Amino acid sequence: MLSFYNTLSKTKEEFIPINKNEVTFYSCGPTVYNYPHIGNYRAYVFADILKRVLLYNGYPVNHIMNITDIDDKTIRDSIKQGKTLKEFTEYYTLGFYEDCKELNILPPSKFTKATDYVSEMVSLVEILLEKGIAYKSEDGSVYYDIKKFPNYGKLSNLVIEEQKENASGRIKTDEYDKENAQDFALWKAWDLNDGDVFWETSLGKGRPGWHIECSAMSMTNLGEQIDIHTGGVDNIFPHHENEIAQSEGATDKKFVNYWLHNEWVLVDGKKMAKSAGNFFTLRDLIDKGIDPVVYRFWLLMANYGTRVNFVWDALKASEVALKRLQRLYLDLGNEVGEVNEEYKKKFKNHVSDDLDTPRALATLWSLIADENIIPADRKATMLDFDKVLGLGFANLEQDVIPEDIQKLVEAREVARKNKDFKLADELRDEIKSLGYEVKDTDLGQKVLKI
Ligand code: AMP
Ligand code: ZN
Repeated sequence: MLSFYNTLSKTKEEFIPINKNEVTFYSCGPTVYNYPHIGNYRAYVFADILKRVLLYNGYPVNHIMNITDIDDKTIRDSIKQGKTLKEFTEYYTLGFYEDCKELNILPPSKFTKATDYVSEMVSLVEILLEKGIAYKSEDGSVYYDIKKFPNYGKLSNLVIEEQKENASGRIKTDEYDKENAQDFALWKAWDLNDGDVFWETSLGKGRPGWHIECSAMSMTNLGEQIDIHTGGVDNIFPHHENEIAQSEGATDKKFVNYWLHNEWVLVDGKKMAKSAGNFFTLRDLIDKGIDPVVYRFWLLMANYGTRVNFVWDALKASEVALKRLQRLYLDLGNEVGEVNEEYKKKFKNHVSDDLDTPRALATLWSLIADENIIPADRKATMLDFDKVLGLGFANLEQDVIPEDIQKLVEAREVARKNKDFKLADELRDEIKSLGYEVKDTDLGQKVLKI
């Protein structure tokens, strides 16, 4: 049985798709105004694991991930840098695609850019206006009238009475907190801050609000009702609450059956965030000589629904563990045998139980040490598990440092610890003569093939 914790019902539910021949799945993607930080990547690694688990359970998946290339932040920062919105956002979009590849994130069926769907957004706003759920304000912007949608607040547990009492009017910015629940902007009439970013439409000269973008892209590509929608917990309010209001307000149908949200990556107990300045990018990891897959592995050690505190030492420990796993995998030899059904069953049960990756990894460690199973079958079973884990075992053969080099590197580590720098240098030269380069980083020695 496949089950997920559904933010909407606040319970773990059995997953039953609308159509078992195509699971419809929408993930809120990045706002491309900067390099995402590694906290953001938890959202995308989580969506990737979820998709892989669906595939592992035999469901074909139609997965859409949007690229928010128009919102308050992209406009603000493109103007600051004197670039066109397109030029500015394309740069970070390409960076995002590259990072996803580094993290072994499978590409979605389609990436959808918000700027390609403005006419669909306008049509949706028109429907909401016709139905009297939205209204035009004095400046020509269009707002959603939250009092017209009785279910407003169901996803985020917002008490409707409270929200009415606090509601002091309208909110035009894309991001705001629960205390500020108010009528929100669907369409923003052009003002000076938008520079040359606007569309001339039946709604007037302006641009869409952030929330309408995902409603329009999801419904256009996947239909009015879908199976799964994901994002980080900070998307629950206002973004996903507003998506429900917009979509269900327009269609009178349930928009999404399963809402899944990943918890935060913290630093010193605080949410990793650009605004807090306590963030690291994938580039920072690579510059320290850490393979991004180590970060993926570190994430998998916790359930997506629990908070995790990022510390370099923990990442370093994950690196050691992953290297050990890779070494054990390679020691299984070249032959690929049969998948062990008993282990597969255990593994599948864990990942199908609300993506319990920590227990799935424990099963992997037991498998690899189980001498009752011939190495070729252990290898086949590891490769099967890797369809979900995405740690890239199949590509290892070329990348892993041979045993003799590894021994020299370890000897050099001892020499360095003993402050015998002459010996350390000699060992470095010997390693080099064998075709490998050693670099000393904050986190110890890094070995690269020359
Ligand atoms: P943004 O580009 O700001 O829209 O964020 C992209 C995704 O990252 C969203 O799904 C956020 O909920 C998620 N996110 C942002 N910060 C964190 C964090 N510190 N830990 C985990 N997820 C996060
Ligand atoms: Zn979204």
